[in-house]
Amino acid sequence: MVGIGARRLAASGARRTGEFRHLPKVDLHVHLEGSLSFSLLRRFARDQGRAGLRTHDLAFHDFDGFLRAFARVCTYLCRPVDFELAVQYLGRRLRRDGVIHAEVFFSPQVHTRRGLEYAELVKALERGAREVKAAGGPSLLFIADGVRQWGVESFQVLLAEMERHPSPSVVGIGLGGVEDAIPSRAFAPAFAAARDGGLAAVVHAGETGPPAAVFEAVELLGACRVGHGVAAAQDSELLRWLKRRKVTLDVCLTSNGRTGAWPAGRPHPLAGLVDAGVPVTLGSDDPALFRTTLSREYARAAATGLDDPALRRIAGQAARASLLPPRARRRLQVTLEVAWRAWRPADG
Ligand SMILES: [Zn+2]
Repeated sequence: MVGIGARRLAASGARRTGEFRHLPKVDLHVHLEGSLSFSLLRRFARDQGRAGLRTHDLAFHDFDGFLRAFARVCTYLCRPVDFELAVQYLGRRLRRDGVIHAEVFFSPQVHTRRGLEYAELVKALERGAREVKAAGGPSLLFIADGVRQWGVESFQVLLAEMERHPSPSVVGIGLGGVEDAIPSRAFAPAFAAARDGGLAAVVHAGETGPPAAVFEAVELLGACRVGHGVAAAQDSELLRWLKRRKVTLDVCLTSNGRTGAWPAGRPHPLAGLVDAGVPVTLGSDDPALFRTTLSREYARAAATGLDDPALRRIAGQAARASLLPPRARRRLQVTLEVAWRAWRPADG
C-alpha cells in the first residue's frame, strides 16, 4: 500500500463519482457485449420474438457465472445492425460519463460461430463508431478478443478473417476467457504473426490466473497492455520487470469484486501496483453486467487509498497507452493533462 494517512484515505474514499464525470477520461478496457443494458437487450429480444429477459437471467456470483452471463448476452446480438446499435448505445453511455476515447473489446469468434460474417460485423462496428464520432464522440477503436478455451485453431481462423478484412478501426488482438484453459505458449506463433501484421497485443492475464500468466502474456504473446494483471502484485520481481518494460495494466476494480477475481474481503492491490511504478489505467470492463462506469472506477480507486497526483497519472497513462496513431495520441494526452491539471478536488 502507498504511504497515505488514515485521514487522507477517508477523504479520498468519500469522493463522489460525479466529480470524475466532469473530467475527460479514456477507457482502454471495455467490452462491447458486456456494455449492453438490460433495456437494450429487452429491445433486441422483442425484435427477435423471444421470451422476455428477466434480471435474474443475468445474475452471477463468481467468475464462471459471469462467463455464462456474458455468453447469454451475446445471443441477443443477431444481425449486423444489432452491433451498430450496441456501439451507438455504448458511445452515448461513455459520452455521458465524460469518456473522450475508448478501446472496445469485441469477441468475433462467439458471433461467427453463430453464423455471423466477420466482415459484416466489422462494417457494423465501423458504422457505429462513425455515428458516435459525429454525435460528439468519444473516438472508438476496437480490439478483437480471442477465446482462449476454444484453442489455437479457432484463434487462427479469426486471424485469417482479420487479415482478409483489415479495418482501420480494429487495431488490436486479445485473448480472454478461461485463463488456465490453454497455456499462452500455444498461442505464441499466432500472436507473433498478428503483431507482424500490425496488430497490437492486449491480453487478459493475471485476473484469475497466477503472476506467471502476466509474465507469459508479455514475454510470449508480446502484450503491450495486460487486461487486469492484478496477480502481479504478489511478485515484487515481476512488478520491477513490468515497470522496466513499461507494460501497462488495465485494472478493473468493480469487475474484480463482482467476479471474485479479487475477493471483496481483501484490500485491492491497485495502490501497491501504482506505488511500485507499474503503469496502470482504470477500465469499466463490462459496465452493464457490473453496473459501473469509468467515473465510478475512479471514485473506487480514490477509496483504495490513491492520492490526487496518482489519479492524475492514471488518467494520463490511459492516453499514453492508447493504440491511437502518434499524433492523435499526443493530442489526447494534452487534452487530459490540461483538464486534470486544472482539477481542484472537492475535498482537496
Ligand atoms: Zn475484460
